[in-house]
Amino acid sequence: MCGIVGIVGSTPVNQSIYDALTVLQHRGQDAAGIVTITDGKFKQRKANGLVRDVFELRHMQRLRGNIGIGHVRYPTAGSSSVAEAQPFYVNSPYGIALAHNGNLTNAHELKDVMLTKARRHINTTSDSEILLNLLAFEIDNQLDKTDKTGTEMQPADFFAAIRRVNEQTRGAYAVVSLVIGHGLLAFRDPKGIRPLILGRRQSDTGHVEYMVASESVALDAIGFEVMRDVAPGEAIFITDDGQLYTEQCAENPTYHPCIFEYVYFARPDSTIDKISVYDARVRMGTKLGHKIKQQWDDLDIDVVIPIPETSNDIALQIAMILDLPYRQGFVKNRYIGRTFIMPGQSQRRKSVRRKLNAIDVEFKGKNVLLVDDSIVRGTTSEQIIDMAREAGANKVYFASASPEIRFPNVYGIDMPSANELIGHGREADEICQLIGADGLIYQSIEDLIEACQEANPEIREFETSVFTGQYITEDIDQQYLDYIDHLRNNDSKEIAAQEEVANLEIYNEDH
Ligand code: AMP
Repeated sequence: MCGIVGIVGSTPVNQSIYDALTVLQHRGQDAAGIVTITDGKFKQRKANGLVRDVFELRHMQRLRGNIGIGHVRYPTAGSSSVAEAQPFYVNSPYGIALAHNGNLTNAHELKDVMLTKARRHINTTSDSEILLNLLAFEIDNQLDKTDKTGTEMQPADFFAAIRRVNEQTRGAYAVVSLVIGHGLLAFRDPKGIRPLILGRRQSDTGHVEYMVASESVALDAIGFEVMRDVAPGEAIFITDDGQLYTEQCAENPTYHPCIFEYVYFARPDSTIDKISVYDARVRMGTKLGHKIKQQWDDLDIDVVIPIPETSNDIALQIAMILDLPYRQGFVKNRYIGRTFIMPGQSQRRKSVRRKLNAIDVEFKGKNVLLVDDSIVRGTTSEQIIDMAREAGANKVYFASASPEIRFPNVYGIDMPSANELIGHGREADEICQLIGADGLIYQSIEDLIEACQEANPEIREFETSVFTGQYITEDIDQQYLDYIDHLRNNDSKEIAAQEEVANLEIYNEDH
């Protein structure tokens, strides 16, 4: 998963893009990058690390210009080589830079097309580089047409190029790109899987400035007012001098936002596709609370404890419905990375304890209900249940605000391979035993969907494949899942991590 931002301003945009990326940091902590345009040239800084570590004063001073894009990266497969940090760049036509959130499910096929039809070499394993080259190729094709008529590229020509891109790509993508001499081009996949929102503000000099970003919180943070979500299949073109053009560029767009954004990924203070993430989580808590009340009425729970932080609002609501005390019994160390992004199971195990610590008095002699937003591998839940027992808990029950995660994600969320998912091929009873809980309850898929849909009934269906195994792009077969599996299993991640260390050693020796 990644976070993206693009701004066309009337004064330098470097600080605003930097600030927006820090607000989107939860979407990716692996690498960060900014590209701006000044005097007809790209200025770029990208590297592995958190936003605050990647950009120093000297980089910011170089990132001049009133138009730019930014990216934070969270790799969905393999390790995180700096060569794959975004934005990516191609020199022709014009000079194009691009940043992408999502995953193309036909990247392999497109890579071949790029080589054979467009004679374009792809140098990384990143599907974003493929997407950039496809976009460049299609802009080039439009240019051929305009050359013949002796006219300049117009917004309509850029939209025609995006239409061709949408016809050829499968999967999920929200994209921001810069075209030198023209402006900023942003677009969202025809099923609207990954989020993208448009905003504007008036500068002190009275100019209208525009911004697109993965989440509304980025707009709020730097003083842009939300205009609307970019529609599935829609493209936005903002010229260098601040003119906004929009067009629907997909044949049959449908609305299928990824439900996992609401469960775990997005910040609670964001609104995605008119659904407040915070509100959706509160409703998840209400629904799960009622389910616990109905199905577990003989339960002897003394206290409800969230596993911080995503589930805090959910657990509070469950406690209210059950008329039980809510206590923050775990303290989170904010200064280490998320456990999921660390390759390899052994490192992941150690890191849960480094990340969370129990407050004994909240557990001693009590029957506790622990609440989490989701159970992925089960590593976190198993260790947290152990910690609760060590802290003196009598019984430890567990509630998950989302249903059993049984299938891999192919649309840009970092999920392990199927056989590493504790819910893959298992029912709740067996999962309960494996994580060592005295009872386990999951939210139903119907309740999860309702919790999100209530705020925007226009969305008839969400992208829910990790729970249902139904992939809405309809191009996912066993062969693709095997391929994803190969990229994501622990062995591959350990090997990739070792290669990364080896590469770094070579790099360090050379420098
Ligand atoms: P696990 O130990 O694999 O079961 O991890 C479950 C925990 O990871 C939950 O507390 C979630 O909040 C969190 N989580 C869920 N999905 C992801 C993800 N894609 N990336 C990082 N963390 C996640």
